[in-house]
Amino acid sequence: MDELHRAQKAKEEIGKPSVFSKIIKKELPADILFEDDQCIAFHDINPQAPSHFLVVSKKPIPMLDDVQEEDTKTLGHMLIIAKNLAAQEKLVNGYRIVINNGEQGCQSVYHLHIHVVGGRQMEWPPG
Ligand code: C5P
Repeated sequence: MDELHRAQKAKEEIGKPSVFSKIIKKELPADILFEDDQCIAFHDINPQAPSHFLVVSKKPIPMLDDVQEEDTKTLGHMLIIAKNLAAQEKLVNGYRIVINNGEQGCQSVYHLHIHVVGGRQMEWPPG
């Protein structure tokens, strides 16, 4: 199943423990780069660039649309962790940060996460 197909079916999973909740609980393996009380970061299982990792909120917020004012600190923290890990991964020539939101945003896992992709020239507009 490709990413678009996965995204179209993914909404059915809202309300169930996400695959990322299982990674957070160590019930599923992941190549973890960083973890603290607010987030966990690991390499994407299906990388779209030489470097592709995710920064995932430990709070199981399904999507950006569900973020509340009280989540401001967590979101800011996740961005700081994303740029720190981009430096650690030596993405010195730039990288892209992405949050897919909802079906047309091609979101396939309904658990808030930031993509960091780099290591090659990005293009615009995105597909
Ligand atoms: O933004 P979106 O919801 O589509 O991103 C989900 C990402 O989670 C995908 O890039 C997928 O490859 C990744 N994934 C992962 N490990 C899993 C399941 C999904 O890295 N076990």
